[in-house]
Amino acid sequence: MKAETSQVKVTIVKVPVPRSHPRFELLMVREQMVEGLARGLVVPEGLIAHGRGECFDYLIGEKTEFFALKAIRAAAASFLLAEKPVISVNGNLAALCARELVELSKATGAPLEVNLFYRSKLREKTVASALKAAGASRILGVNASKRIPRLKSFRSLAEAKGIIEADLVLLGIEDGNRVEALRKAGKKVVVIDLNPLSRSAFNASITIIDNVVRALPKLRLEIEKLRSASKQRLRREASSYDNREALAEALNYIRSRLERLSSNLASGRS
Ligand code: ATP
Ligand code: MG
Repeated sequence: MKAETSQVKVTIVKVPVPRSHPRFELLMVREQMVEGLARGLVVPEGLIAHGRGECFDYLIGEKTEFFALKAIRAAAASFLLAEKPVISVNGNLAALCARELVELSKATGAPLEVNLFYRSKLREKTVASALKAAGASRILGVNASKRIPRLKSFRSLAEAKGIIEADLVLLGIEDGNRVEALRKAGKKVVVIDLNPLSRSAFNASITIIDNVVRALPKLRLEIEKLRSASKQRLRREASSYDNREALAEALNYIRSRLERLSSNLASGRS
C-alpha cells in the first residue's frame, strides 16, 4: 500500500483583522487552519470539515452549552478512571490546539498519538514535529504498524502501545467509521465534534458537542477539579452520562434556538 501525494501550493494573503471585528476569533481560527495547510499539517479536505464545524458552531451559538459541559464532566471522570488513555491527534487538531493537547497529555499522563485519515509518512512527521514544538515529549503513531480491526487502508494504522492497547481514546474532528471501529474494539471513545448529527457523535461513548478550541481547555480544568474525587464519585459521574440523551439535548437546543430567532425576526424584534 502506498499513499499518493501531490503538493498543494498555498499563497497566504495576510490582511490585518481589527480586534473590533465581530467575528475576530473565528477569523483567527481560520488563519490557523490556512497556516496549517501551508505547513502540511492540514489537508484540503480538512478545510472542508472545518467549514462544516463552523456551520454547526453558528447553530449552537458559538458557546459551550450545558450538554457539552455534562459531556466534559463525564469525559474528565472517565479519563481519571482509565488505565491506558490515549489522545488521538489529526492534522486539524494539531493546527488548532497543539499546545492545549500537550497540556492535556501532561495533566492525564495520556500519550499523544498521531492518527491521520489522509496518512503519509511526511504528514505523520509534520504533525509529530508540531506537537514536539508545542512541548510534547512522547509522541506515538509515527511508523505505526498495527491495525484497528474492521478498518481498511491507512486509516486503520495505530500503535501497539497506544490506541491498540488503550482503554479510552479521545478524538476530535474525527471520521465516524473510525469511532465505530474503536467502539467495536471495546474502547471507551470520547469525541469532540460540533455536529450532533455526525456518525462520530452517534457512535461515541461520550460526545462533547463543542468547538475543540473551547472544549479542550475546559476538559483539562474539569480533570483538575475532579482529580481528588473518590473512585466512587468518578464512577457515578461517568455512568450517569447518556450519549443519546446528550445528542437529543443538543438537537433540541438548536431547534428551540432557531424557533426563537425566527419568531423574533417574524415579529420585528431583532
Ligand atoms: P461522520 O463521518 O462522523 O458522519 P463527518 O463526515 O461530518 O462525520 P468529517 O467530514 O470527517 O466527518 O468531519 C469531521 C467533523 O468534525 C464534522 O462533523 C465537523 O462538524 C466537525 N468539526 C470540524 N471542525 C471542528 C472544530 N473546530 N471543533 C469541533 N468539531 C469540528
Ligand atoms: Mg465522515
